[in-house]
Amino acid sequence: MEKENTESESKRNFIRDMIDHDNETGRFGHKVHTRFPPEPNGYIHIGHAKSICLNSGIAKDYGGEFNLRFDDTNPSKEDQEYVDNIIDDVKWLTDGFYKGKALFASDYFPQMYEWAVQLIKAGKAYVCDLSPEEVSRYRGEPGKPGRESPYRNRTVEENLALFERMKNGEFPDGSHTLRAKIDMAHPNLNMRDPVMYRILHASHHRQGNKWNIYPMYDWAHGLEDSIEGITHSICTLEFEDHRPLYDWFIDQLPGIHHPQQIEFARLNLSYTVMSKRKLLELVKGGYVDGWDDPRMPTITGIRRRGYTASSIRSFLDGIGVAKFNSTIELGLLENAIRNELNENALRAMAVLKPVKIIIDNYPDGLVEEMEASNHPQKPESGVRKLPFCKEIYIEEDDFREVPPPKYFRLAPGKEVRLRSAYIVKCVSVEKNADGSIKAVHCTYDPESRGGNAPDGRKIKGTIHWVSARHAVKAEIRLYDTLFKVPNPEDVEEGHDYKENLNPASLTRVNAYVEPMLAKAEKGSRWQFERLGYFYVDPKDSKENAPVFNRIVTLKDTWAKLSKKK
Ligand code: ATP
Ligand code: MG
Repeated sequence: MEKENTESESKRNFIRDMIDHDNETGRFGHKVHTRFPPEPNGYIHIGHAKSICLNSGIAKDYGGEFNLRFDDTNPSKEDQEYVDNIIDDVKWLTDGFYKGKALFASDYFPQMYEWAVQLIKAGKAYVCDLSPEEVSRYRGEPGKPGRESPYRNRTVEENLALFERMKNGEFPDGSHTLRAKIDMAHPNLNMRDPVMYRILHASHHRQGNKWNIYPMYDWAHGLEDSIEGITHSICTLEFEDHRPLYDWFIDQLPGIHHPQQIEFARLNLSYTVMSKRKLLELVKGGYVDGWDDPRMPTITGIRRRGYTASSIRSFLDGIGVAKFNSTIELGLLENAIRNELNENALRAMAVLKPVKIIIDNYPDGLVEEMEASNHPQKPESGVRKLPFCKEIYIEEDDFREVPPPKYFRLAPGKEVRLRSAYIVKCVSVEKNADGSIKAVHCTYDPESRGGNAPDGRKIKGTIHWVSARHAVKAEIRLYDTLFKVPNPEDVEEGHDYKENLNPASLTRVNAYVEPMLAKAEKGSRWQFERLGYFYVDPKDSKENAPVFNRIVTLKDTWAKLSKKK
């Protein structure tokens, strides 16, 4: 009980305060019903996740309902593939709270049409023959009134007849619109006779060629909310100026349910672009390997990188909900998964850039089984067996022929601890003809099994290793940010955000991993000692040929970078 209180305390925000107030006054009959209304014109991204988790989280905590509604009012760019993937991503993000039922704004087209006719009959809407350019010219500017359309005072009969002919497909695209008759001098430009319907002879992903007119967002959105009985229609700040219009339309239809629109600041993340149009461009242009490329900020990409839904929710809870726009450090998202995996991921060893060690005094054919802890802070996670033999691989970086000061790893004449195995001492370096290192020769202290010196002598460095005879070859994919600058969209005139793509965002490494990982389950997560947290790629990984994506490094490199500044 107490935990629940603190948890909901941390989720407190101005939206929940408004809902509490509405519940106290009984404004919506003590009901809470939210929605997430994506346009199915791309895959959803981490910004959408903010809206999804906010809306579904509120519904869940208030014992209310949450709808996924596709705002499919814009036929040309929409696709069933997007619909299916969005459904799957929302289920995943909400841990199954959302069950997979999809609603479609296009199913409400007949009702919206009827309501438009009702507005015409009430003298509140008219058919206008101005071109789109003329409509915007007539609209005027802030502080200056607009001009009334010459078609504004058509009779109801004329409007009804024209609107029906628009619907029947008798006019070409762009020749007529249906507009609300509000006020061409209104201080809010959105209220200056906004367009409600446009003519579009386009095929719709669900409606086919049934419709020749399509409703505009401002007209459609509130009606969709009303039809579904949404109580709190939560959207991003850019819709704040549209709220008077949202309310106006619903007020013209007496008796229909009137939801409350509430605006919050959208999520922006450093080193990331977050517009579906740009993400589509990256996919189509081959700049990334599809929507689920682990470098993408899409939910499907973040999932494939190895993030958990709970880490995304905890990141979002941590940053909270505000009324002003800001950019969140990517490092905060990384911290969320790092903290979770530090708790949960079992430990293993992998060597990314191998150098061979030969232990001269170790018996040739001997293989010993070392015991390594699966999770040092959680003894209940048990231990695993690691084969050890005369030849092992260590990380190239963990050996220096000429060590810099304070280098506590392996160097000629120096001792180092092999994690969970023995203490070894470097005795010589064997070179190839080209001068590169062929093998590093060591001796081991047979009394140091487990890693402790029998005489208590201090060994400062501990390094990871795998048995050269037993290790499994694996592909490891190391990721850096997709963009090389914090604000990739900040570009000078004549330049493009794609110039800010990071050419080093993906490095593929042929690595060696400990033998048990040959059968690593797809989708499992591991901490490779000293290297980071890794995810067994669900698409490309195979038995005996595993593929690991690095989810995140062990330490927060961002914090270090910002300290340096
Ligand atoms: P994009 O610009 O990426 O195409 P959009 O707003 O056009 O995004 P929609 O499918 O219309 O995409 O968005 C569905 C919902 O997600 C809307 O309610 C919108 O306010 C919300 N949303 C979109 N981007 C963000 C974001 N970065 N942070 C929070 N909410 C967002
Ligand atoms: Mg949109």
